[in-house]
Amino acid sequence: DPRIEGIASSIRVVPNFPKPGIMFKDITTLLLDPKAFKNTVDLFIERYTGKGIDVVAGVEARGFIFGPPIALAIGAKFIPLRKPRKLPGAVISEKYVLEYGTDCLEMHIGAIQPGERALVVDDLVATGGTLCAAINLLERSGAEVVECACVIELPELKVHSIHIVYSLFS
Ligand code: IMP
Repeated sequence: DPRIEGIASSIRVVPNFPKPGIMFKDITTLLLDPKAFKNTVDLFIERYTGKGIDVVAGVEARGFIFGPPIALAIGAKFIPLRKPRKLPGAVISEKYVLEYGTDCLEMHIGAIQPGERALVVDDLVATGGTLCAAINLLERSGAEVVECACVIELPELKVHSIHIVYSLFS
């Protein structure tokens, strides 16, 4: 798709952030380019319109930027999957392993109903650990995860092979 190149070139790469050796893909520069931002959201909307998706689940924090405009356009509800102790109601939690230590995603109990079809949205997939945790959280609640949509994929860092990942580019 000819729109992909403009999206890719709008993303800034910041060397040695948040620590030495990491080449951080910074999507805040994509957000400064209204055409690239709109094209990004449009590509996902085109892919997911008419697919019977009930729920878009966004991963904190950048899944909260791309997820809601997709949810509104396809007529789905939006669920934030948050870092620990951010949600005020009763939650279910899913821990996952990072390079050093562990992290956790939480979702409000009752946000999703068994049998609902869910799309997970985040900006970037690297090892796949975060998306695995998101998928587990939704499946434990009885949802069917149709796909995980990301802007960027870093295939060289892949640890978890998730067969339902769709990314705009790698
Ligand atoms: P994973 O769990 O290893 O797949 O890492 C993906 C998570 O880390 C996502 O929530 C991303 O937002 C975040 N992440 C990792 N590397 C980058 C990056 O270079 N830019 C932006 N986010 C990143």
